Amino acid sequence: MARLIFLGPPGAGKGTQASLLAQHCEIPHISTGEILRAAVAHRTELGVKAQGYMDRGELVPDQLIVDLVHERLLQPDAASGWILDGFPRTVSQAKFLDELLESIGQSYDCVINLDVPDETLVKRLLSRGRADDNEDVILNRLHVYREQTAPLIDFYSDRQQLRSIDGNQTVDQVTAALKQIIQA
Ligand code: AMP
Repeated sequence: MARLIFLGPPGAGKGTQASLLAQHCEIPHISTGEILRAAVAHRTELGVKAQGYMDRGELVPDQLIVDLVHERLLQPDAASGWILDGFPRTVSQAKFLDELLESIGQSYDCVINLDVPDETLVKRLLSRGRADDNEDVILNRLHVYREQTAPLIDFYSDRQQLRSIDGNQTVDQVTAALKQIIQA
């Protein structure tokens, strides 16, 4: 059973690695970004509310996200473990997650931070071609990451829950490093 939180700037490879590791551990990969993109594509109420923020590279309001995560973690497949990718994104979301997990009798094993230099991030994001991957939006997402999400590195390392991995390696090398951490 593994319960992991993936942290890292946009373009660090969180989605790729979380998906590979989730398959390996046979647990769900829960990406709030993917859930939101599906909601936008299906024009659900959530999607309509979230789209403008996503198009600008801003975070969607906490209330939209915390309800979504709450619902997702209560699904039966999440009882056997999970990887959270893209959540929490702010200190207030991290505090919410602590309360939520306590209320459903769960806890996480550790928080994995994928460390990648800015030049590599921009290069990777520009080559990805997602709707929110044009240069202005990319720069805004990096700015939002630094302002709102990077403080989580201290938040979790102060609690001795953070493990950092050099994300500036090949996909296979990063996957190998991750497997080592979860087997330790
Ligand atoms: P991602 O796929 O994780 O890069 O997320 C894409 C976009 O979805 C972000 O730029 C935000 O607009 C939104 N998003 C995803 N996760 C969150 C979150 N935890 N809090 C707020 N906004 C989020």
